[in-house]
Amino acid sequence: MIEHSLEITAKTCGYWYIVNKGRIWLTPQGEIPYGHFHDLALPAGDHCLNIGEWLQQPVYLLIHQDQISDESQWHSARALLELPSPHWFELGARATQLALFLQTHRYCGQCGCGMNLVNWELALLCHKCGHRVYPRISPCILVAVVKDRQILLARSKRHKPGFFSILAGFVESGETLEQAAHREVAEEVGVSIRNLRYVGSQPWPFPHSLMVGFMADYAGGDIRCQPHEIEEAAWFDFMELPEIPPVTTLSGQMIAKACAKSND
Ligand SMILES: [Zn+2]
Repeated sequence: MIEHSLEITAKTCGYWYIVNKGRIWLTPQGEIPYGHFHDLALPAGDHCLNIGEWLQQPVYLLIHQDQISDESQWHSARALLELPSPHWFELGARATQLALFLQTHRYCGQCGCGMNLVNWELALLCHKCGHRVYPRISPCILVAVVKDRQILLARSKRHKPGFFSILAGFVESGETLEQAAHREVAEEVGVSIRNLRYVGSQPWPFPHSLMVGFMADYAGGDIRCQPHEIEEAAWFDFMELPEIPPVTTLSGQMIAKACAKSND
């Protein structure tokens, strides 16, 4: 079993990210609880780790594994996107991804012995065979393809009718981010792109993605949707956009940025 769990004492004070199967416990006001653990009537946990600092206060991850009786205070990390600072969501991404990592790497994948938390870096180590593992992060590229005053938006099978976003896809082994961007756009909609520009990134803990955003110019080809992946795709005028992701998400920010730039 994993060792080195932090002991919670009467003096342990900070922000508490309490995680149960990817969900986070929030106060009735929808915030991350802060204070001395014993004063707050928080759900108990099996494993506690210091995962960083925010506003000069420690941030703790507490993994709660019991069956949840009251669902009302357990939320998806998406709820943290509504808070004024993006740091709450980023820390939530860290907390849920680390909780998943610890729960799914209790035993060595090479020899089957119990894993031990390394005390100077975020890793798990097998003392028997030396196998070391780090939290999994799956890079996923987002590409906003622009042609004149239009943007290419698509709807995947996961999205309801009428909801569109920019193209997205996971980076494959041995591939650069740029190669993944060109490949995904060609595969999903049959279009070629040029002038790829990095925009930014966003942790996306569902369950452990890192979104990496690029702008690109249309280079050629007609839209041909990939069966089984893309339900529909089209060029949308900047002034007549369908329902799109909110600006708290990187894809929403990129669509806004593409439209704002062309209106300069
Ligand atoms: Zn091992």
